[in-house]
Amino acid sequence: MSEISIPIYMDNHATTRMDPRVLQAMLPYFTEIYGNAASRTHRFGWEGEAAVSDARETIAQFIGAESEKEIVFTSGATESNNLAVKGVAEYYKGRGNHIVTTVIEHKAVLDSCKRLEKEGYEVTYVGVGSSGVVDPKAIEAAITDKTILVSVMLANNEVGTIQPIREIGQITRARNIVFHCDAVQGVGKTPFDVKDMNVDLASLTAHKIYGPKGIGALYVRRSKPRIRLVAQMDGGGHERGNRSGTLNVAGIVGFAKACQIMMQDGVAENERVFALRQSLYSQLTSALSDVVLNGDAERRLPGNLNVSFAFVEGEGLMMAIKDVAVSSGSACTSASLEPSYVLRAMGLDEDMAHSSIRFGLGRFNTQAEVDFVAKLVIDKVNKLRAMSPLYEMHQEGVDLKSIQWAAH
Ligand SMILES: *Cc1c(COP(=O)(O)O)cnc(C)c1O
Repeated sequence: MSEISIPIYMDNHATTRMDPRVLQAMLPYFTEIYGNAASRTHRFGWEGEAAVSDARETIAQFIGAESEKEIVFTSGATESNNLAVKGVAEYYKGRGNHIVTTVIEHKAVLDSCKRLEKEGYEVTYVGVGSSGVVDPKAIEAAITDKTILVSVMLANNEVGTIQPIREIGQITRARNIVFHCDAVQGVGKTPFDVKDMNVDLASLTAHKIYGPKGIGALYVRRSKPRIRLVAQMDGGGHERGNRSGTLNVAGIVGFAKACQIMMQDGVAENERVFALRQSLYSQLTSALSDVVLNGDAERRLPGNLNVSFAFVEGEGLMMAIKDVAVSSGSACTSASLEPSYVLRAMGLDEDMAHSSIRFGLGRFNTQAEVDFVAKLVIDKVNKLRAMSPLYEMHQEGVDLKSIQWAAH
C-alpha cells in the first residue's frame, strides 16, 4: 500500500486545501506588488489594478460571462449571496415583493430571505423530493405576478445534488424575473455557463475550488437584461458602486489562478475524483448492509458521497474515525439538536439523518486514502452495530417501526 498521512481530509465541501500553484501565484502580491488597486497615481497601484483586471477576465471566462465588468469581488459567497438576494429585493421592490427559493439552499440565502420576510417581503421555499433535486415545474408553479427574484443553487453542499439551472433559467427569462444561482459547490465540477443557462447573478468563492479563503465574487449580468442591485456595503464606491472596500489583490490573483487550473484540468480531475467516490461507495456497500445513499445517484457532484449507516449515530461514527475528516448530518448546528435541514427536507427521518456521513472527495485525495478509509469505516460501523440492540432486533427481522415503545 502506498504511503498515506494521517489525518486524512475528506471534507472538501467545507473547504479545500489551497493548491500550491495558487500560493505561488499569490506570493508576489503580498510583499512586492502590494499597491492598492484603487491608487491611480503611481505604479504600485497600476500593477495591482492590472493584476485585478487580468483576474476578472479569467473568472468571467470561467463562468461564461460576457464581460469582465460583470465580476464584483466580495469577501466570499456568504457576502455574494447576501448582496444578490437583498440587493435585488431592494432594487426591484417597486415591481413586487415575492421571492422564490428552495428549502435546500445554503444558510446565506435562506437567512437573507428570512431577513427580507421581516421587512415585508414574501418568500416561497420550494421543496425537494427524496432525490434532493428541485423540480423546475415546482419553481414555475411558485412564481406569481409579484415575483422579482428566483434563487436556486447549482449544487447542494450536503448531498451534492445538481439542480436543473438551465431549465429554471428558461422559465425566469421568459417571465423577466431575475435569476440568482449560488454556484459555489458546482463550478468546475459540473457544467456552468451563465449565458447558456440564463443566470443573471451567480455567487462564487475561491476556497471551495482550491483557492484562498475570504475572497469570492458575484457575477452581475450587465446586458440582455442589465441587472441592478442596491449595494449593501457603503464606502468608496469600489466595484462600480456594488461593493465598497479595498480589493484583496493577492486573494483575487489566487482566485483567478484556481479558476484557471479548473479550466485546464477540471475534466480529467472530475473523472478521477468520481472514480474514487465510486470506489469508496462500492467498498462500503459490498461489506456493509443497510447503507443508504442520500440524494440522486446520477445528478450529483463527482466528489460527494453522502450516506446513512442505519443503526449508527453519525456523531459516534465520526468519533470512532477521528483520523478522517468528514462531516455528519447530525452535527448539531448552534444550540439546536435538529439534524440537517437538507436531509429532513428530503424526507429522511431523524434517525437516518442522524446516521449520515458526508464524504467530500477532492483533488488531493488518493486511492490509498480511499482504501484506508473504507476499511476503517467498515470496521467501526460493524463494531458500533454490534453494540446496538436495535440493530440486533433488525437482524432478527423485527420491524422496528411497528413497535409500541413503553411511555416514559
Ligand atoms: C461554502 C458555501 C457558501 C459560503 O461561502 P463562503 O465563501 O465560505 O462564505 C455558500 N454557498 C454554498 C453552497 C457553499 O457551499
